[in-house]
Amino acid sequence: VKFTQWNGEQVFRFRQQLDKGLQAWGIAVLPDFIDHCTTYAEALVATNAHLNLTAITDPDGVAEKHFVDSLSPLLLNLPNGPVTAIDVGTGAGFPGLPLALIRPQWRVTLLDSLNKRCRFLSETTERLGLTNVQILHGRAEDSARNPLLRDKYSIVVSRAVARLPVLLELCLPFVTVGGSFIALKGPDGPAEVEEAKRALPLLGGDLEEVKSIALPLSGDRRTLIIVRKQKPTDAAYPRKAGIPNRKPLL
Ligand code: SAM
Repeated sequence: VKFTQWNGEQVFRFRQQLDKGLQAWGIAVLPDFIDHCTTYAEALVATNAHLNLTAITDPDGVAEKHFVDSLSPLLLNLPNGPVTAIDVGTGAGFPGLPLALIRPQWRVTLLDSLNKRCRFLSETTERLGLTNVQILHGRAEDSARNPLLRDKYSIVVSRAVARLPVLLELCLPFVTVGGSFIALKGPDGPAEVEEAKRALPLLGGDLEEVKSIALPLSGDRRTLIIVRKQKPTDAAYPRKAGIPNRKPLL
């Protein structure tokens, strides 16, 4: 079933499942976090009626597969202190926007190459009154060459954008030396790590951890791949737009 709007019961169900999932993971939230997520989720489902944002529109699915899943990086030991983060290929805002909502002290950039999705994100963050989020329209290959963005993020996250060898080329250039790239992957994450054996050192990355997790309500398997940036990425990377995908560093 494709939902284009939730009724009161469905809104209630979304809030309940979100709360339940976060409690199961021991993630504490500020009082208005659930309200903000609800506003965002309702906008996602309504906008999805005329703009392709997501295949998941049911309350349980949105709560767990979009919101709870997006917060999975909080299961890791993340750096304390000021965090500047970027979500590469954020789409409708996952995982970057839920992370920005739960961590108001982080400064989060949401990057996507599809302008219509960026417009949805601008409207939504404005409606939520968020001041710690910046929306950026562009391709990672181009944005990563902008000196204002390259090497500037202590945390880079990305979900469902490309396989790991490609993703590393798109994401590692944004990470500050000593910072981390976190890839949110499905059950075959470990196989992707194997594929990325050459790309990792070539781009200045060092594999820190491969963490297998289960979503708290459905038990669906996920993998968090954490890569620490050891040294600056060579200026040759990322290659021109489209090349990382066409000729992955295998
Ligand atoms: N991360 C979101 C999620 O998990 O729900 C969206 C995933 S969607 C399958 C992939 C998104 O990445 C799309 O919105 C697409 O426009 C964006 N994307 C793909 N390649 C990109 C690139 N090279 N630079 C920036 N965005 C890109």
